[in-house]
Amino acid sequence: MNSEAISEAKKLLTTPKNIVVVGHKNPDGDAIGSCLGLGNYLRQKGHQVTVVMPNDFPDFLKWIPEASSIITLENEEEKTKDSIKNADLIFTLDFNALHRTGDLEEYLEKATANFILIDHHQQPDNFATVTYSDVAMCSTSEMVFHFIEFMDDISCLNKENATQLYVGIMTDTGSFRFPATTATTHRVIAKLIEAGAKNSEIHQNIYDTNSPDRLKLLGVALNNLVMLPEFKTAYITLSQEELNQNNFKKGDTEGFVNYALSMTGVIFAAIFIENKKEDIVKISFRSKGNFSVNEFSRKYYNGGGHTNAAGGKSLKTLTETVSEFKNLLPKYKNELNES
Ligand code: 5GP
Ligand code: MN
Repeated sequence: MNSEAISEAKKLLTTPKNIVVVGHKNPDGDAIGSCLGLGNYLRQKGHQVTVVMPNDFPDFLKWIPEASSIITLENEEEKTKDSIKNADLIFTLDFNALHRTGDLEEYLEKATANFILIDHHQQPDNFATVTYSDVAMCSTSEMVFHFIEFMDDISCLNKENATQLYVGIMTDTGSFRFPATTATTHRVIAKLIEAGAKNSEIHQNIYDTNSPDRLKLLGVALNNLVMLPEFKTAYITLSQEELNQNNFKKGDTEGFVNYALSMTGVIFAAIFIENKKEDIVKISFRSKGNFSVNEFSRKYYNGGGHTNAAGGKSLKTLTETVSEFKNLLPKYKNELNES
């Protein structure tokens, strides 16, 4: 954050404000952790804070301190709209463009509040009064920690916000293994543990919550895994029928794509998940090295994200989507084999 942005943010926060903190559609651990962590901090500074999401989030994130205070457009429409309408200040966290909030977009566009963006995705849109964007950061939750530092308020760390931010950093770094994890990330984590985050408990609460249904669905996914050695690529498909047969619940497919990427020789992985309700195929891409799934996803799937982790969607059928994907690969054969 540059000094101009720091003083602008400080200025906006000098008097008690009505603040909304908003995350992206289908919020993940980083969206929930960063929004709650920032919200907890802002309340300590005397602000009125509402944490808002476009839609609900998976059960494995529900135990996080203060998660029950989150309101969603999906479940509490009027309350959500009113909070945005009445806000003096809106923080947008963990996304780079307002359309990433789905149905919330139109209300955010109408809002009269000032915006502060905190995010680590590539190519942020220019809609905020204060933009704190850093694509080198492992997570928005680490950025919220630095934001609190920039506000000279590190004494506001407590067990709750330390736990919230720890969850966001841990989930977005694949438990501290992705390349964006730095020495600073580990120093931040150390401070969060000192402030009361119980690291081992947090890992268990997030990762050791498998249901038999989820493990069976993982079995189906692994059975559907296709390896394309020529392109150092592997992909997984899950049809709506397969999801239904295994009582799919939000969050159940989280991390499945990493199994494809974990195979020896694979540097590009995808998972295609049919969603009949929205009439789309939701896609997650992962890569290792220089192959940019952000660019790939932007170009063909109306998506985006980071160099090594991105997502998008297709409006075609699952079969068409997969065959279109396979047809794209020859174009990238050299690039994939150089990586
Ligand atoms: P995931 O595959 O875990 O859903 O998402 C990986 C990354 O890509 C995340 O940083 C997420 O914010 C981003 N992402 C996922 N889906 C989309 C999408 O449809 N559009 C854009 N712009 N980014 C996405
Ligand atoms: Mn993130």
